[in-house]
Amino acid sequence: MNVVVVGAGPSGNTVAQKLAKAGHSVDVFEEHPQVGRPIQCTGIVTKALFEFAPKDDSYVTNELEGVRIIAPSGKTLEIPLHEWVICREKFDSFLAGRAQEEGAAYHVRHKFTGVKGNSAIFQSENQVIEKEFDILIGADGPFSAVGRASGLLKDRQYYIGSQATITGKFDPQWFLTFFGACAPGFFAWAVPEGSDRARVGVATKKKVHDYFELLRQKFNGEIVERQAGPIPIYNGAKNVQKGNIYLAGDAAGVCKNTTGGGIITGMWSAQILADSILRKKDYSKALNPLRRELWIHEKLRNMLDRFSDEDYENLVDWMSKAKVKQLLEAHPREYPSRFISKLLLAQPKFLAFAKYAFA
Ligand SMILES: Cc1cc2nc3c(=O)[nH]c(=O)nc-3n(C[C@H](O)[C@H](O)[C@H](O)COP(=O)(O)OP(=O)(O)OC[C@H]3O[C@@H](n4cnc5c(N)ncnc54)[C@H](O)[C@@H]3O)c2cc1C
Repeated sequence: MNVVVVGAGPSGNTVAQKLAKAGHSVDVFEEHPQVGRPIQCTGIVTKALFEFAPKDDSYVTNELEGVRIIAPSGKTLEIPLHEWVICREKFDSFLAGRAQEEGAAYHVRHKFTGVKGNSAIFQSENQVIEKEFDILIGADGPFSAVGRASGLLKDRQYYIGSQATITGKFDPQWFLTFFGACAPGFFAWAVPEGSDRARVGVATKKKVHDYFELLRQKFNGEIVERQAGPIPIYNGAKNVQKGNIYLAGDAAGVCKNTTGGGIITGMWSAQILADSILRKKDYSKALNPLRRELWIHEKLRNMLDRFSDEDYENLVDWMSKAKVKQLLEAHPREYPSRFISKLLLAQPKFLAFAKYAFA
């Protein structure tokens, strides 16, 4: 089968590697001149990443020991978490290399512009190129051109993230998250690359650059690099297939609404897609285990969206219980269904927030 994958991010590279390995003819088209660039990502991942990609020192920038959660009053809670900061340029290239080893062909500087019959149309330099496909996969990110061309991308809403790499003095093993009026409806973060620079950012639905300027005042180092990008808000990932056209990753809208993280869930959707194609299964149905986890994140986001500053102060106090910290440390947040009931048993006070989740 001729498979055309649009987008050489984590999701596109994952599905390309699996289908090429199974013997299909796979062509990956990427609009930018270099895989993994430009970067629009903080690159923080849990251990769940290594269920979808082999661990490799080449793409790991930093290894973390935990998070400091900072409530609106400045009250801080430390939770040990063993997580990683990755370099997206190196990580995406690493995944593309794996797909190429399996025989996938990569074409950079090829921008997907539409579909004509069973051909995908690309603009490359001054040329228009048509590529016939049996299967077309849109792994082309949050604004997916494949999703728009096929009519699958509908009613999508986004957070906008604004981030900079800033120099300064940082505790290299701990990342910071800030909640409350500094980032309405989401949060702000500072994720160290090491002791002398951090990826500092904020996401909101509106006026993100104003909130970034407020956050910037907490850090007086120099800005080395600026990035900004959209994060799709998960809304059920209902439209993921139309005939022989499929969407995966951010194109399918499978980010976690609590954190905006989408690297691992995108790769998970790509793995499900490859498996569905190979075993002739219904892709949309096969996504249900991922949807179940994302649904919990959606409800948690509903809850957090209704939090007052006082609620955040209570949350930080209630999370400080040793058993709660142990559960959060043991379970990657990609799988909340595995530990949410245990959290409620460990800290029944969390039930006070349940009314917000379903409001
Ligand atoms: C500020 C910010 C911080 C983030 N931090 C984190 C984090 O810490 N952890 C985490 O897990 N997630 C994070 N995310 C989300 C994460 O970046 C995405 O969920 C992830 O990149 C999705 O991977 P993907 O392969 O589906 O899409 P992408 O990584 O967006 O890849 C899509 C690819 O398609 C290409 N493309 C797009 N349109 C076309 C076209 N028309 N033709 C050809 N190619 C095209 C793009 O150039 C790109 O290479 C963050 C997002 C933002 C904006």
